[in-house]
Amino acid sequence: MASGHASDAAVSGIRADGARAVTAGRILTGRPGEELTDGCLVFDTEQIRWVGPRADLPAEYAQLRIEEYPDATILPGLVETHAHLGSRPGGGPRVPDAGRHAQAWNALHSVHVLRQLGSMGITSAQSLGSRFYTDVAVREAVAQGLLDGPRIVAAGPMITTTGGHDWADGAEVDSLDDIRHAVREHHKAGTDVIKAAVTGGFFTPGSAQWRAQFSTEEIRVLVDEAHRLGKPVAVHAHGTEGIERAVDAGVDYIAHGTFISDDGTTRFEPALADRIAEAGIYVDVAAPPSYPPVPGETIAPRALDLYRRGVRIVTGHDIGAVIPAHAYLFGLYQLEEAGIPRPEILTAATSRAAAAIGLAGVTGVLAPEYQADFLVVDGNPLDGLAALERKDLIVMRGRTFVPDPVPEYHGRGTGDGAPASPDSVLARRGRDLERSRSQRW
Ligand SMILES: [Zn+2]
Repeated sequence: MASGHASDAAVSGIRADGARAVTAGRILTGRPGEELTDGCLVFDTEQIRWVGPRADLPAEYAQLRIEEYPDATILPGLVETHAHLGSRPGGGPRVPDAGRHAQAWNALHSVHVLRQLGSMGITSAQSLGSRFYTDVAVREAVAQGLLDGPRIVAAGPMITTTGGHDWADGAEVDSLDDIRHAVREHHKAGTDVIKAAVTGGFFTPGSAQWRAQFSTEEIRVLVDEAHRLGKPVAVHAHGTEGIERAVDAGVDYIAHGTFISDDGTTRFEPALADRIAEAGIYVDVAAPPSYPPVPGETIAPRALDLYRRGVRIVTGHDIGAVIPAHAYLFGLYQLEEAGIPRPEILTAATSRAAAAIGLAGVTGVLAPEYQADFLVVDGNPLDGLAALERKDLIVMRGRTFVPDPVPEYHGRGTGDGAPASPDSVLARRGRDLERSRSQRW
């Protein structure tokens, strides 16, 4: 048996201590502008041990069988900064009382989204709103090796006002004490980050996206309590009023940053963007143009405007409930179309995104002692982002991740998970009965 294991290891290039070596035509380290030609990366079952030109490989690694990808690029694993793992609105088992399965379904859907994210080459994802604290449980299951998938940074249920945006899946609060209590409850349940909805949202009926839901004082209490517990604060903010209050209150991350003014139209505010840039607040900008689906209104996040004002933009797509995981690259293409340079997009999707979700120094950069989270892609993503679609190898925390099939994305919701119309249910039933009549045994 022992010799069998040894030869397995030799064949796969894995040493007894778990070390592996991968070479590629180039390595993008994730640090802006840093690129190695004919690079080599040595890693073990957790972290990166060595990165450099292949010619300089230290003698201690000379015995490793090298996995060679001459025409490929090694780059840090992609990061999604704004995901929702739970089931989409209206989703669930098609049974008389779907409600009794709500928690189990939420968990199963979360595992599905987790796997889809991993299959896109995403090695870390931040969950910004999850009913039942499912994201915390998923994070733990991944960390404890029960599930293979990206590292999860978990927010638990979004904190909102009673009846406010995402109230059905969120934690409703109405006073300063409520806010402190909700933050402490989230801490107790094991969240990493606190997420609050400071304006209305598009998927909550009756919501006013242009209005703030909380006063500046309320947001400040939330931020102070979260920071006291060592947790960053991410806020959902479409309206300019809410963005302004969030900046005043000292939040760390803005989701959407849509700049919807009081008359319901979007109007970019350069002075406010400058304050966001100065404060170093991250803003996610990668949701597809079909989002949110409001006919005749363009509220696409002002990615280029924000970038030009020096705001730290990151690749959060609001993936999960409404936007499928396979829309990730579409979001990056869209940033390029908007005029953002490719190197900036790759930084926004890797090292900066890692920092935005509290993982600076842990992942997002290919350097010794960082976690071994990386991709090998065919071609050079600096010559064309489509190289990110051709993944030869996905490694998460030092282990090869075997991807599931991922559907193609064409810029719209896929309709997966949508309930079948009664017509199609009846039609299918008719066809099933028709076939069943031929069975006599
Ligand atoms: Zn969201």
